[in-house]
Amino acid sequence: MQPLHLYNTLSRKKELFEPLNAPYVGMYVCGPTVYNYVHLGNVRTFLTFDTLYRYLTFIGYKVRYVRNLTDVGHLVGDGDEGEDKIGRMAKLEKVEPMEIVQRFTNDFHTVMAQFNTFPPSIEPTATGHMVEQIEAVQALLSKELAYESNGSVYFDIETYNQRGGNYGKLSGRILEDLLNDTRELDGQSEKRNPLDFAIWKRAAPEHIMRWNSPWGEGFPGWHLECTCMSTKYLGKQFDIHGGGMDLKFPHHECEIAQGDGLTGHDPVRYWMHSNMLTVNGQKMSKSLGNSFLPSELFAGSHYLLEQAYSPMTVRFFMLQSHYRSTLDFSNDALKAAQKGYRRLANGLRVIKSMSYKAGEGNEDETKQQDIRQAIQQFYEAMNDDLNTAVGIAQLFTLLKYINMLYLNQLQASVLGEEVFNLLKESFITFMQDVLGLKEEGTDNQPILEGLLTLYREYKDQRQYDKVDQIRSYFKAQGLAIKDMKHQIDWAYEE
Ligand SMILES: [Zn+2]
Repeated sequence: MQPLHLYNTLSRKKELFEPLNAPYVGMYVCGPTVYNYVHLGNVRTFLTFDTLYRYLTFIGYKVRYVRNLTDVGHLVGDGDEGEDKIGRMAKLEKVEPMEIVQRFTNDFHTVMAQFNTFPPSIEPTATGHMVEQIEAVQALLSKELAYESNGSVYFDIETYNQRGGNYGKLSGRILEDLLNDTRELDGQSEKRNPLDFAIWKRAAPEHIMRWNSPWGEGFPGWHLECTCMSTKYLGKQFDIHGGGMDLKFPHHECEIAQGDGLTGHDPVRYWMHSNMLTVNGQKMSKSLGNSFLPSELFAGSHYLLEQAYSPMTVRFFMLQSHYRSTLDFSNDALKAAQKGYRRLANGLRVIKSMSYKAGEGNEDETKQQDIRQAIQQFYEAMNDDLNTAVGIAQLFTLLKYINMLYLNQLQASVLGEEVFNLLKESFITFMQDVLGLKEEGTDNQPILEGLLTLYREYKDQRQYDKVDQIRSYFKAQGLAIKDMKHQIDWAYEE
């Protein structure tokens, strides 16, 4: 089998994944700026790296997963000028900036839990690492890779490049083109070169988030935060750095320059970026009115939606496409995903309760081979740059056999004990542990079982009005009663 390969944005090709210190893997993902509700585009990024985290762990790596919270320094417009996104919200609402941070951190954690993502191993905040950031600014100043100007400190791109740096190598941008594209903006006169970026900013009088520094009161630059928090917990060079495609430039480009400037080598081995979401073929954006909040999906309250969709439906929907492809959101696509997810969830529910029973049927090598091959191909797909789309297709092959067993169309003995157990174990672990798809809405399982007992009794007594009542109770919960020849059971309505 092909070992794990990951697409590295830096080399623009799939590379064999070789951690610096196997079995340990260090992975950093840029977390949210906690000034607003997390939107669906961000969710896709976090689901992608949650799945990578799960898979790496599943195949035996010991992963330290660091995902930060940006609670200061990210300015409106993503550049070096303007208000702090959190400070601005705090002013608007007349509350402490940390109240904004706390509220949206709580929301973010709730949403991440709804999508069944694992919390990271460490979740550092920018405000919690002020000392490290000031030290990094001092180090860059002493190397003359940065300069102070009017209380702010800027990274000096020209000097960095003269010393062998290659600013632009991640995003494939050419310095001269960048310079031509850069217009002079207010305040940029502080910079020697319009491309230089702030690693420390002087706080204007109206700026509420401010810290003492050798350069006066100010706050750290957004790009520097991630450099300090990633290297503090993962070392000067670490394995994987992830984020959304929109962070490639300038955020990650700047992280490379800073890390390289501080230590003399690239900070990251594998740069990974997840692609954007579109809605009915258009870019998802707040100004177009087609951006979704997770809560709107769960409530079905967005005007582009005909109904509510559960977190697992959305997770399944996102994993059905490869993380480097754009993914188009539409009501129809979600509806199809709901059906697909529920079919798998039904498979998961029934296979968990099945155990091997010896029987009459002789072992069928073709079927055994088919199952072994689907399992093998699941690994192949995941090893091929985390191709969850192809992986999920293999789950449906396994599901076909689970359903045949469930419907009594296939005897377990035809698969043989070994292959039956392999089928059961693989389906459960691939779906739950690797893809993070769990069953939803089964808290009331004992009640459902009790109602099914009543259903059977009423049916025997030919009390069909009661039978129908129970059916409609199930239906109202998105469940269906399966009245089969050999048994009566319930299932998620597909
Ligand atoms: Zn970052």
